Amino acid sequence: MPELKLADVERARCAILGTSIETPLIPSPHLTEVTGTEVLLKLELAQPIGAFKLRGAANAIFNLPEHVTGVTCCSTGNHGRAVAYAAKALGLRAVICMSSLVPRTKVEGIKALNAEVRIVGASQDDAQAECDRLVQEDGLVDISPFDDPHVIAGQGTIALELLDIRPDLETVLIPLSGGGLAGGIALAAKARKPRIRLIGITMDRGAAMHESIRAGSPVDVTEVPSLADSLGGGIGHNNQYSLDLCSRLIDELVLVSEEEIYRAIQTMYYEDRIVCEGGSAVGVAALKSSKLALLSGPIALIVTGRNIDMTIHGDIVQGRDVVLGDYVVQGQSYQA
Ligand SMILES: *Cc1c(COP(=O)(O)O)cnc(C)c1O
Repeated sequence: MPELKLADVERARCAILGTSIETPLIPSPHLTEVTGTEVLLKLELAQPIGAFKLRGAANAIFNLPEHVTGVTCCSTGNHGRAVAYAAKALGLRAVICMSSLVPRTKVEGIKALNAEVRIVGASQDDAQAECDRLVQEDGLVDISPFDDPHVIAGQGTIALELLDIRPDLETVLIPLSGGGLAGGIALAAKARKPRIRLIGITMDRGAAMHESIRAGSPVDVTEVPSLADSLGGGIGHNNQYSLDLCSRLIDELVLVSEEEIYRAIQTMYYEDRIVCEGGSAVGVAALKSSKLALLSGPIALIVTGRNIDMTIHGDIVQGRDVVLGDYVVQGQSYQA
């Protein structure tokens, strides 16, 4: 397997220019006050598909051989939307495979881009099986959500933007699932600034990368409904890139509870006036918990996406209960 380098991320930056945007980095006065050190928000939710995944998907699809006529992927929603968006730009067929855990709002967003949608089973593994079938039978190319060098390089472009504007950054908080985002950012950020501290954050129910790093090889986790739905799923039994990158380059891993994610969505809404999805609020959740005591700033938080079901978002900001399968997140009004 060829080793990914900073130059791959720099090439990706040129390739995706004009498809994904260079997102704003804005101050969070509230989190700055809470932590006593400067906190900045990298607003990936401002991407045309409402999440950072367009960076990696566009880079992967723009690098396909010319004879390819169609792509497929398995997705928790945002990667599927990104693949659909980039495929549409090139006039390619796109078939997006998802499990029944994917929120309706994400499925609708993908259908609106004219992609074909397959809902299969109740886990990422089930959706992946359908993807594998489409590769075999229809000759489509499977674009992995996180374990593809072009996808990882695309996500890594976030680090170049961050360090271009703020070379003084000391810490970056990164939502972590399959590790394409954290792996890409780590690859580029550590190449530019070896002593930068990188923290990967996941929900405590179904933290596949966390378990896999500890075990030293891919570990299966049971997938359950979570407020951080975009962080669900395993890392693939044949993981080639993202596990290695995350194991080597991520300095620290933090787990947050559903209750902490709930309050983080409230915090973003009431303090920063930002609507964000659960998977993108885990950094705020970690900062507001006491799980990260000694942090040196400036700190950047990657606010990865905004594709949340607005009924659930309404329930959370109003302090109502949220039911996640057989788990209930108890409602509570926002307190600073
Ligand atoms: C995919 C996703 C993540 C996690 O990215 P990985 O590369 O799978 O670690 C975080 N937040 C959002 C909103 C996502 O869609």
